[in-house]
Order: sequence, then structure tokens, then C-alpha cells
Amino acid sequence: MSAAPVRYTVVPSNPAGHLFTVTLEIAAPDPSGQILALPAWIPGSYLIRDFAMHIVALSASAGGEPLGSRKTDKDTWVLAPCDGPVVVTYEVYAWDLSVRKAHLDQTHGYFNGTSVFLEVRGQADGPHDVVLRAPDDPACAGWRVATSLPRVDGPALGFGTFRASDYDALIDHPVEMGTFEHATFEARGIPHEVALTGRFRCDTERLCQDLAAICEGHLDTFGRPSDLDRYVFQIMVVGSGYGGLEHRASTSLICSRKDLPQPGDDEISEGYRTLLALASHEYVHTWNVKRIKPAAFTPFDLSRHAHTTLLWAFEGITAYYEPLGLVRPGLIEPDSYLELVGRKLTDVMRRPGRFKQTVAESSFDAWTKFYKQDENAPNAIVSYYTKGATVALALDLTLRRDTEGRCSLDEVMRTLYARHGETGVGVAEDGIEAVAKEISGLDLDAFFAEALHGTGDAIWDRLVGLLADFGIRASLRPREGAKDRGGKKGKLDAAAWAKRGDIGITLASGAKVRWVRDGSPAMRAGLSAKDVLVAIDGIKANSDAEAMLASHAPGDVVRLHVFRRDELLELQVEVGDPVLDTVVLDLDTEASEAAISRRTAWLGGD
Ligand code: ZN
Repeated sequence: MSAAPVRYTVVPSNPAGHLFTVTLEIAAPDPSGQILALPAWIPGSYLIRDFAMHIVALSASAGGEPLGSRKTDKDTWVLAPCDGPVVVTYEVYAWDLSVRKAHLDQTHGYFNGTSVFLEVRGQADGPHDVVLRAPDDPACAGWRVATSLPRVDGPALGFGTFRASDYDALIDHPVEMGTFEHATFEARGIPHEVALTGRFRCDTERLCQDLAAICEGHLDTFGRPSDLDRYVFQIMVVGSGYGGLEHRASTSLICSRKDLPQPGDDEISEGYRTLLALASHEYVHTWNVKRIKPAAFTPFDLSRHAHTTLLWAFEGITAYYEPLGLVRPGLIEPDSYLELVGRKLTDVMRRPGRFKQTVAESSFDAWTKFYKQDENAPNAIVSYYTKGATVALALDLTLRRDTEGRCSLDEVMRTLYARHGETGVGVAEDGIEAVAKEISGLDLDAFFAEALHGTGDAIWDRLVGLLADFGIRASLRPREGAKDRGGKKGKLDAAAWAKRGDIGITLASGAKVRWVRDGSPAMRAGLSAKDVLVAIDGIKANSDAEAMLASHAPGDVVRLHVFRRDELLELQVEVGDPVLDTVVLDLDTEASEAAISRRTAWLGGD
């Protein structure tokens, strides 16, 4: 439409006040009244966040004269009619330390385009220029820039001008600015960068080596995207935090300081494994959801909920490849891989919601259920991440076993990438099922009906048999304490389990009831989430309340005193049998040669 690109200048103008100032220049605005709008949500995070709430003091001018503007809804402005070029100025309040919004202080600045770039309606398909200016604040001396936004001018890592091909690209390259540590590596010829922000100690060379192994593994599995010529890991290091969001040529991660590899260490600590798995997950999204997208997101309508039943695939398949990306290059051993998988399966088995909601329904209602979980969530919903990963595992093993190794989920993903990733054509709601059936030649109707549209434990029962054919034993045991996330053998044996009862609650700090399991003894006795346990059999309940309860044998009657709000209640709970809700996976030392060779073809190694 217009010849000149829409141009934004972003200045971290007031770091102490957490304000970016944005100047938007529109050479050829709609003369009848230009509409400007900010997204209500950010792709990859399925919650209406109303980013426009952080837009402050918007004003417009034309030819040096003020130009009127008014809001027409929560995210939309319309400028007064005007013929010539228009300049719009606004501030963005940036004080959300997450990967989803924007953050600015004297130590660094970070933003997603969805927080700062008002869309110029009618010009979204054209190029968009971004000028990033260094802050004047002397506290911010020496700041650099790390972003996958394509650069037009300015030195490497410097402030300067950047260009996005369209609005969709503009909001998919978050920007980090500050005095981050910067490192680079190559993976299959593609330059990769790591920008680490925060206070930390890190063996950066080792981190790069391990990330390179993960990236190369995924590039080998899925194929190099033709439009991927560089990739940036933006990592915010904090005392305690975890999170990530995928983008087409970068990812923003938040990790805990203790999760970074320390100089001198060569083990993979549990924390470091968590960080590598997160990086692996986000990198898989480079294909799965950033390029292979559901038709429901093609194009995105960022003004309202966009429903798809396919998040089981876009998050679940991604979550399935997340630990595979660590074991296949040999960063972790198969037993460590099985622990990570077992934890995801444990998450499924601990939610009675699996008897009520299918994974397709969980996907569809992500906006109002998965992203808005309350104390009843484990009783009411499944996670499309963990149940989706369970379905992906069962699908991959079925394809491998039943085609005698001719087909696999890798093959399905490569086909989806060729048909949808390279072309930009969205995946229909039944598109993944259709590709799996087509390229394997298997009748998978019953499988998908059960896995995607069924509830209950049929998928678990199926998986136990599948895993056995790959030399892996799957079993269930009771949970052994608050920190037991499953995946591996417990410390207790069957005789000890039999003496440990279960009333069906989990506790938060301060002996506050976090959750009461559907149909449990605690629910029958009238205990509720948010009740505070004050005494168990007349003894003060404190941080070891969970252990005090577990020391009771099935059949015992326990007297509980609890506060519900400010009212004291006395309840009698008959302790129930231990619940087998914790998944253990281990390598079967007596597996057949056929099973071992299937396993090796799947996980790598020998
Ligand atoms: Zn994800």
C-alpha cells in the first residue's frame, strides 16, 4: 500500500520508571482515520493478556500539529482523519519479568513486539522498520542488543535499525538489551547466539557445546528450515524461575541461577538437565508451531481466543521431543531419559481429570481451563503437554513397531514440515492423524479415537505393552512424599507401601490444603482446598503434616482440626489405601534382542 515502511523508534527512556518511549511514523496513513491496535495475546501463550493496558500517554501529530485520537475498544485507537504523514508517540510500562511481556530497569531491557508495536491496520503486510536507541541514563552505559530481528544498520550487537518483513514477523523477534554475556556456536552451519542476562556464574563454553548438540540433533531429525539463517537463545537468569517462549528464529528463556553449568563441573545436574530440556523444547517449536501451524492460527487473530483441538500435537509432540533431544546426542543416559518421560506420565496419572476431559478438549479450552487453573484443576482437566506427550510417545512406538521400523513420528513430522512448514498452509484439525495414517499405511482410527477423544487409562494400558516391546518396563507405585515427581524407583518396597495410607490431599506451605483428590477419603470427610490443617490426632500440624498423615495405615481413623477461613472444624477421616499414581520406567535387563534393537533405533546409542 504505502511505499515507505512503517517505522518505530524504541528508546528505553526511563529505566527507573520502567518506561520505553515508542515513536511510530506512518508515511501514508488511512486518510479517513488510521486505526492502530495492539494484540490481546502473544502466540505460544494461550491467555488473553490485554497488553494495551500498559500503553501510557498516547498522542499523535501531523505536520507538527497535534492530531486527535480516541479508543474504540480495549486494544484499538483511531486517529482523526488526516492526509499527510503521521507521528504517534506513546510510552510502554515494562515491569513484567516473564517471557511474555516487557521488562525494563537499570540492569536490562526486554520486550516482545506484542507489548510495544501498535499495528497500523491496512499496512500489516508491508515491511516494518525498528530503530533501537541506546538509553541516555548513565546507569545503562555499555548496553548492547541481542535479537533475531534482521539488522539494517549499526554494528553487530549494537543499537541501530532493524527490519521485519511484515507485522507478523515484527512481533516474533523479542529484543534483549543490556550488558548480557554473549556467546556463539554453529549448528549444521547455522550461526547460533546465546545472550545471558542477570547475575550468575556459568561455564558458557560448555553450555554452547551442549546446546549445539541439541540443535544439531533436532536439525537432523526435522530438516533445516529454508528460512532459518540464524538463531538466538535469550536467557534471563534469576534466583528462582523457569519459563520459555518460542519464536521463529529465537527463544526467550528464564532459568534459575543454580541450573547453569558451573565452571569445573562436568556432571549434568538435575537443574542443568531442566535447562537443557527447556532449550530443547523451545527449539523443537522452530518447526512445530512456528512453521507447522494449525489452520486456526493461519493467520493469527490476536484480538481474541483462537481455538484448536491440536495443542496436544503442538505442545505434546514438542514435549515428547524435549527429552529425546537430550538422549539421542548422548547428553543424558537412557535411564535419565526414562526418568524425564516417567515424570510426564506421572503428571497424567496424578490427575483424576483424565477421567473427565480428553486431550482434544484440553487443547480447545486451553484459554479458559489450562491457563486458568484453580484448586479443582487436577480433578477436572488433563494437560495437553503431558497427556499430549503420552500420546506422542504411544504414537511413535506404534508407528515404529507396527511398520517394523519403516515409519516413525520423525517421518510424520518431516512430512508435516514439507507440506505445511515450508508452504505456510495451516494444518486441518484432523491433519496430523491423516498424515500419520497415510505415510504409515496403518489403520490408526482406533488409536486416535482412544488417545485424542477418549478418557481414562486406556492409553496407559496400551503404553505399558508398547514400552515392553522396546525393552522398557513401566509400572506404578505410590507417591513417596511431597517432592516425589516420579519417573524412577522409590525408596520403599511393597511391604512399606502397604502400611502407608493415603487420604488424597496435597499441601502447600503452612500446612494449607492445596488440592483434595476427587473421590478421596479427604473429600468424603469434608476437607477442602484452602483449609489450613492445625492438628492431626490432637498434635500440631506443621511442615511435616504430609509425613504425619502418611504414617497412618489404611483403615485408621484420623481426627483433623482445620481452619476454614476463620472457623475451626473437626473432621474424621478414614485413611484409604495407597494410590498407585507414580510412574516408574526402567530398562528391562531381560528384553529380547528384537526389543533392544527397536529401542536402539529409537533412542540411539548401542
Ligand atoms: Zn511449548
